[in-house]
Amino acid sequence: MTAPAILVVGASRGIGLEFVRQYRASGARVIATYRRPQDGERLLELGVSALALDVLDPTAIENFGERLAGETLQTAILNAGIYGPRSQGLEPPTIEEFDRVMHTNVLAPMRLLPLLAPRLAAGGRLAVLSSRMGSVSLMQSSSGWLYRASKAALNGALKTASVELGPKGIICLAFHPGWVRTDMGGSGADLGVADSVAGMRRVLAAADDSHNGRFFSYNGEPLTW
Ligand code: NAP
Repeated sequence: MTAPAILVVGASRGIGLEFVRQYRASGARVIATYRRPQDGERLLELGVSALALDVLDPTAIENFGERLAGETLQTAILNAGIYGPRSQGLEPPTIEEFDRVMHTNVLAPMRLLPLLAPRLAAGGRLAVLSSRMGSVSLMQSSSGWLYRASKAALNGALKTASVELGPKGIICLAFHPGWVRTDMGGSGADLGVADSVAGMRRVLAAADDSHNGRFFSYNGEPLTW
C-alpha cells in the first residue's frame, strides 16, 4: 500500500520549497504545487509529484481536487501567500490590491480546505502558513494592514475548519514561520528557511488533539489569535 503523502501548496520557492526538500530528505512521498513550468521541473528533480496550480484560478482549484482523487494525505500545508502593498500606515488599498491579497491568502485556502479534508488520513494534519502579523491580540504596528487583515481572516477560517475537522481526527494548525529570509521576508530577516521549516515539522510531528485549532510559532511557542 502506498504511504499517505505530504502535500505542499505553493512550493516553488521560499518556505514551501524548503518543506518539500526536508520532507523528501526524510523519505516522505510529497506532492507539491507550482505555477511556472521551470519550477515544476525543479520539483520533479527533487522526486516529488509536481502539479500546476494557480490558487487564484477557481477552475484550477476544482480540477486540483479531481487530480488528487484516490490520494490519501498525511499532511496538507497551505503555504501559498502574498504580502501585497508594503504600506506603513492606514493607506487605503486599491480594489485590485485587496482582491489579490484576499483571494490568495483567504479565498484560496477556503476553497482548498474542503477539497483536501476528505483526503486526509485519520490523525492527519492540516496546516496553514499564517503570520504573527495576523494576530489581533499581538498587533503593535500599522505596517502592511492589508496583509495583517488577510492573515487574521485566514486564522478565522482555520479555526472554523478545526471545529469541524478536529472531531474527525484531523489536527488543524496555523503557523507563524518566524521572520524568514525569503523573497517575502527579505535578506534582513532573522531566520533561515531551514530552521523555520525544521521547527514547523517538529511541531507537526508532535501535534495531538490538544493542538487542534491553535496558532503556533515555528518553534512551538503558542500564539494568541
Ligand atoms: P515567498 O518566498 O514570497 O513565496 C511565496 C510562495 O507562494 C511561492 O511559492 C509562490 O509561488 C506562492 N504563491 C503566491 N501566489 C500564488 C498563487 N496565486 N498560486 C500559487 N502559488 C502562489 O514567501 P515565503 O516567505 O516563502 O512565505 C510562505 C508563506 O509564509 C506565506 O503564506 C507567507 O505569508 C508566510 N509568512 C512568511 C513570513 C516570512 O518572513 N517569510 C513570515 C510570516 C508568514 P510563485 O513562485 O509561483 O509566485
